[in-house]
Amino acid sequence: MHYIYRTAACIWSILKHSLMVACAKVFRLQWTFAGPEASTCRSAIRAAKAVVSDIGEVSAAKSNGLVRLSHCSESHSERDVEVLSRQYKIRLPVQISELKKSPGVRYMGSFKVISLRSWIEFLTNFNVWHVMLGLHHPDEARERAILTEFWRLYKAANPQHMLWQVVEENSVDLSKCLPILCHGDEGRGRKKSPFLITAYHSCLGFGTDLANSTRARRPYLSLRLNYCGSTHIHRMLTGCLPKMVKDEQAFKDLCSFMAADCVSMIEQGVESKHGGRVWAACLNIVGDWMWLAKAANLERSFSTVQKRPWTAASVPKGICHWCHAGRRGFDFEDMSMNAAHRGTMFLQGDQPWSTRPVFLDIPHDPSKPAAFFYFDLWHCFHLGMGKSFVASVFALISDRLPGGAVDARFAHLTDLYLQFCDEERTAPYITAITTALVGWPDRKTYPNGQWHKGHTTTAFCHFLERWFAVNNIAGDLLLRKSHEATVCINRCLHMLYASDLWLKPAKCQAIGQLGMRFLCLYQELAKISYDQNTSFYGYMPKSHILHHLFADLVQAQTTSMNCLAWAVQVDEDYIGKKSRLARRVAPATVVQRVIERTLSISYAHWHEAGYLKG
Ligand SMILES: [Zn+2]
Repeated sequence: MHYIYRTAACIWSILKHSLMVACAKVFRLQWTFAGPEASTCRSAIRAAKAVVSDIGEVSAAKSNGLVRLSHCSESHSERDVEVLSRQYKIRLPVQISELKKSPGVRYMGSFKVISLRSWIEFLTNFNVWHVMLGLHHPDEARERAILTEFWRLYKAANPQHMLWQVVEENSVDLSKCLPILCHGDEGRGRKKSPFLITAYHSCLGFGTDLANSTRARRPYLSLRLNYCGSTHIHRMLTGCLPKMVKDEQAFKDLCSFMAADCVSMIEQGVESKHGGRVWAACLNIVGDWMWLAKAANLERSFSTVQKRPWTAASVPKGICHWCHAGRRGFDFEDMSMNAAHRGTMFLQGDQPWSTRPVFLDIPHDPSKPAAFFYFDLWHCFHLGMGKSFVASVFALISDRLPGGAVDARFAHLTDLYLQFCDEERTAPYITAITTALVGWPDRKTYPNGQWHKGHTTTAFCHFLERWFAVNNIAGDLLLRKSHEATVCINRCLHMLYASDLWLKPAKCQAIGQLGMRFLCLYQELAKISYDQNTSFYGYMPKSHILHHLFADLVQAQTTSMNCLAWAVQVDEDYIGKKSRLARRVAPATVVQRVIERTLSISYAHWHEAGYLKG
């Protein structure tokens, strides 16, 4: 009953608003109170029925949307709620299109998509273009100045890019051209089956929490990272597809559509209803390694790492689409600045695919087409090497703690960690550090963290730095080097997250050197552990990607883009929300329903943020 009264109280509070706003809030409240925004339409109808029953239809009628919602059919909940949201215009006014299905497409429902063109039309026609540039209010002069500055820096860093010729041939005004990235990933849909989501987002945004909290001044030419704010606002869903592995043709169709859409948006742009034309340029495809391998038809990736000991006849394919790492003579484990694989980057005539990816139709740098598919720091450190590093250090530290049995020693470690979180007023994210969490069932197994949140790795790294500072580890070589490695990576990441979108060369080098020092120390730790016949600090292909990102920063000659621009932690959050939606709608219409409900949920967020009036 308490739930119903809370809902009723909120319904009362919105009766003062217009019908459209009221309806939007009704839906939003249902989703909010039901927990995740992915609650079923059926639960929203039931809650509306309960509220109407409680306060009476006469009172509830002051908000027509509420009564209509309570009259919706529970057996056709998705359909009826969708009709209602369309009638009351509580859906973001972005056009939904339908892809014509090629022969061989297995998905039986309507293959709906939202084109980039539709999103750009919405942004310009509803005068919310500024949101994509990290501005809370429209200011055309400032918007154009920000974009002009972005493209000046981008051109200096990428002089060979095909974009400059396209811009010239099509008379593109770069001060009205939005730089965007395209992200793809699979979340867990119905019955935990993969559910692909692809979405665009601006390279520019409202910055990171850390950068914003340490900002001393607000520059007119504000070029910030796209991290803060609701993903329902700054992520633009374009397509979704259940079980992409099993439906190759549908996946190809979706990729072809996205590539053609992006080409059209840079060559032709969109005519604004306010006059003038705006454009959008997709600069990279980003996402986890699995998505990159799929989108770029990669024949060298993490999945082609040599799993068995090499023999004289072994011809390893390599693991990296940027270089020859993992092939004979080019150890991907080599973390030195002058590693042999650095000299094999983007060699012409040696592409990492047999079938040219359709995304290369989009203007890119022809001297390094493989770089169009950009690596992601967050997966590689926070959900990769950082987990192995922290897990190994936890295992080593546990040996020094009191308690006798291994479980008791880890319980002591948990106490220390929770105490640290309490003192630092930071969320612990986990309730216990155990051998299972650390992925260390026995001493022959390389510890490999089993947690799933990148935030957990960050919190653990901060805890380790504190632990090292207050404990005497002088006699332990592994822990001494681990201490230095922890300080290096914490400083490196802190500098990245405290920065904006563009980094001056000196800052790039400082950050890159800290990152490279961490990698070199990890390599030393792995070797020492191996020489001591112990199993700590295991190698993984993701460490090689970090080598690329950090070494590139060290060698930056121009002002360069912060590698966090390509990191996808915010996108992962968005994917998670869409996947939860996918679990709660009928499988036969999942693509259509996810897209429709995305626009309804987004509308509430856009409205709540005050960007859409009326
Ligand atoms: Zn490489």
